[in-house]
Amino acid sequence: MSAGSAVWINSLIQRFPELLEELVPSTGRRLRERHGGGPVGGTIAPVRLHVSDALRDITDGVVELEEAVRERLGLRPATPALVPNRLRRIAGLLDRIDEHPDLAAHVEEETRRMARRCARLLGDPEQMVRLPGRCPACDSVSLRAFPERAAVMCVNPSCRHTVEGDAA
Ligand SMILES: [Zn+2]
Repeated sequence: MSAGSAVWINSLIQRFPELLEELVPSTGRRLRERHGGGPVGGTIAPVRLHVSDALRDITDGVVELEEAVRERLGLRPATPALVPNRLRRIAGLLDRIDEHPDLAAHVEEETRRMARRCARLLGDPEQMVRLPGRCPACDSVSLRAFPERAAVMCVNPSCRHTVEGDAA
């Protein structure tokens, strides 16, 4: 089941451009300084290398994911596009992706991984996203997705059921 895929994809669509902005020192809002002292003239701060690594990883990941999805669904190869546009195209195929449980699981795992990487780098307070449907454990309408932890959890205090997520 891939109820989460749409959530992770939306999170990536929102936050990938924020990550791009981090590479442009003059216009981007600054990441918290983690190593003391400001950037030294002419050198690239370590945190920025970290960002460019993540951007490359997420870009490659999205391109590969879209190719895999389209190949599996028997569609023609995708035209080149920016990452958020590719993500929107993948989101538009989720109904068809759901017809193939192994593909749906792969899409969910990949988008979850990339959304978490993005969220962790941006380092904002964790955002949670309300999910449709009911908690399988307590039947409340209380499921939320936490991109930073790549987790879907029930926020009913007496339940706290975890639907998915890594212990990390
Ligand atoms: Zn619950």
